[in-house]
Amino acid sequence: MDTPTTHAGASRVVTELCRDLHTRIVPRFPVIDMHAHFGPLLFGEAYESVYDTLEVVENLKAAGVKRIASLELVWGAEYERLMRKLEPSRGFVVPFGSVDVSKALDPKFETLVYAQLRDLKAKGCKAVKLWKDMTLHSERYFGKNVALDAPCYDMIFKACGEENLPVIIHVADPPCFFKPIAPENELYVCLSMHPEWSFCRPGVATFGEHMRMQENVIGANPNTTFIVAHVGSYAENLPQVRRWLDAYPNMHIDVAARIDQLGRQPYTARKFFLDYPDRILFGTDFEARFCAKRTTEFYDTHYRFFQTWDEYFEHPFQDMLGQWHIYGINLPDAVLEKLYHQNAERILGLSAPT
Ligand SMILES: [Zn+2]
Repeated sequence: MDTPTTHAGASRVVTELCRDLHTRIVPRFPVIDMHAHFGPLLFGEAYESVYDTLEVVENLKAAGVKRIASLELVWGAEYERLMRKLEPSRGFVVPFGSVDVSKALDPKFETLVYAQLRDLKAKGCKAVKLWKDMTLHSERYFGKNVALDAPCYDMIFKACGEENLPVIIHVADPPCFFKPIAPENELYVCLSMHPEWSFCRPGVATFGEHMRMQENVIGANPNTTFIVAHVGSYAENLPQVRRWLDAYPNMHIDVAARIDQLGRQPYTARKFFLDYPDRILFGTDFEARFCAKRTTEFYDTHYRFFQTWDEYFEHPFQDMLGQWHIYGINLPDAVLEKLYHQNAERILGLSAPT
């Protein structure tokens, strides 16, 4: 088997290309980042010691962010604990909560879900985060796989609609994560570094099955607002995401951690943003452990993608996802402003203080 090459070689080649890349890109409108992580999902139980809330907020403000949503699988006392950690931000970081899906097969699960949702609402929570663990880790919870569109899960989506809590859901992962780790896999380098990210094994639903389950729950719950993370789970297939957005007015998407995919299909992506300006929310997958320099560069690259025609530059996930460079799509102001903050304000009631 070939040894995966690192990205370093490709970077050296790009330095020979003469062009004038901007050094800093200032966002043309206030930015609400709808997809970021400040808690146990990425940092474990001791997340409080991983970062200083005020320092992170200062870094984000310097990068042009006006408000940011924390997407974590927390409820009850754990939600309160995260609120306390984020309290010094004075509303700059907005914590979204979740429900305990590991209890989905308990007879009293429905009662538990309503209680957890109402408790979150009483604490000011504006949306519910649900994660890929519902299908990809369900064996861990129940000793068997449970489908996303199974009745025990479906009642969560129904309850969120009844409680007027939008659902931000991460379903599956890139389709390449469901294919063998082999040189033919275009995320071979990424998967070789992180074989634990692979879902190519017996007993796990395929990527196609995940997409069918995702469509089923969105279609079955027209009164629930869905924000499907990572470009509707399928940035590699924008024609398919278009079909879903056309069919399901309750579906929205965020663009978190898929700039690599969007930026290598700039003509198709630009038309997609122009055709669905009210359905796409800005999000990044920012991690609170980023240092000041990483934070600035991370957001600059996003702004460069959305606001310029710059060509063939590194994307923010260069060492994690696609090993290619991207092209800017220079969105017009009216589309950019909806993407950066107006859609988040309308759908989630989040304001962007100036
Ligand atoms: Zn995320």
